[in-house]
Amino acid sequence: MSKKPRTDQDCIVVGAGAIGLLTAWYLRKSRLAVTVLDQSRPFSGASWAGGGILSPVPPWHYPAQVDELVRSSLLLYPDLIAELQDISGLALDFASTGLLFTGPFDDHAEPWRRAHPEDVAHGLLSEWQPHCDNRLAWLLKHTAQLRNPRLGKALLAGCVEKGIAVLPEHAAQAVDTGNARRLAVVCRNGVRLEADHIVIAAGAWTDSLLHDSGLSGYGIKPLRGQMLLLQGQPGQLRYIVSGHGKYLIPRLDGLILCGSTVEDVGFDVHTTPQARASILRDCIDLFPPARDLPVVRQWAGLRPGIANDVPVIAQHQQLPGLWINSGHYRNGLGMAPASAQRLAQMVTNSKLVASGA
Ligand SMILES: Cc1cc2nc3c(=O)[nH]c(=O)nc-3n(C[C@H](O)[C@H](O)[C@H](O)COP(=O)(O)OP(=O)(O)OC[C@H]3O[C@@H](n4cnc5c(N)ncnc54)[C@H](O)[C@@H]3O)c2cc1C
Repeated sequence: MSKKPRTDQDCIVVGAGAIGLLTAWYLRKSRLAVTVLDQSRPFSGASWAGGGILSPVPPWHYPAQVDELVRSSLLLYPDLIAELQDISGLALDFASTGLLFTGPFDDHAEPWRRAHPEDVAHGLLSEWQPHCDNRLAWLLKHTAQLRNPRLGKALLAGCVEKGIAVLPEHAAQAVDTGNARRLAVVCRNGVRLEADHIVIAAGAWTDSLLHDSGLSGYGIKPLRGQMLLLQGQPGQLRYIVSGHGKYLIPRLDGLILCGSTVEDVGFDVHTTPQARASILRDCIDLFPPARDLPVVRQWAGLRPGIANDVPVIAQHQQLPGLWINSGHYRNGLGMAPASAQRLAQMVTNSKLVASGA
């Protein structure tokens, strides 16, 4: 990882999660010089902690803007993954596993199914997944997934390969709006970095940073999610299985991720025995063999929650040159490539306008 701040950057990205690193990636593709800062280790926030399901669960619960960003991202993912795998040598296990959804089915479900007949098959859970009961299930055939920690490693390798400086342990304290010529990020370690453009991709911390800079926020707040990792056998669980807000995600090597909680507890990333018990209970109900699988690990992450589930991908209304890419709540991996590409295009277009090109 490059730890040397550049002095000639066009753009500083605050936050090295999936959103920040991918924004840097697309900015760099437009030949901008980019530095990414993170307050701790890159990709150690929600992007590391998440399940890596690349579609909303269930899709009919989310606004059209989320659906559009997810669909656009799914078109970008195959080439992006191929390039990142090529650079990093890592297998990201990007695959259309499909998802068995067992409810609850609300009034939006049936209209959505009629609008997307090619995406859905319906039947009994046991018909698709051995050892499960006969409850009704919809198979969402095209739901894809990838492995978050490997995406993080590959993205970091990719960013460095493309000449992006990624600085860990650089917590932005505030955006300095005092100098009319260039914006600056002032870090808690005393480093000050200037650029024409600053992108805040600080996930759950976005509003705190904006407020500390004397700027208005967007109502983005942390919503904790806890997860468990079970040691299963390859092929034991064939699909992602979801019901009543919980889910099991099978990885190719037999690991099974079980999630998750949604807790409004501020910036607290502790795990709790209550969450462990409730996730296990609901996941065993969905997939009874989970009862016999060892729990390898439990963790928590902070989703960047936002009131309407739609992320902010825009220039800040009070400060030209300051851009926001945040508020991806439960679907940040699913929306990441298109969100990042979109924000990068906005920045690039504004540079062209400013230069009179
Ligand atoms: C348990 C759980 C399960 C999830 N499952 C899924 C799923 O299956 N599919 C899906 O699409 N999404 C899922 N999500 C949501 C998804 O993980 C998030 O929407 C996404 O990771 C947000 O990405 P981000 O880059 O905005 O945030 P983060 O990954 O949190 O990155 C923000 C980064 O900013 C840094 N930062 C913050 N403040 C500062 C500062 N002042 N200075 C410098 N750096 C700073 C942080 O250290 C962090 O690295 C899940 C989330 C959780 C917690």
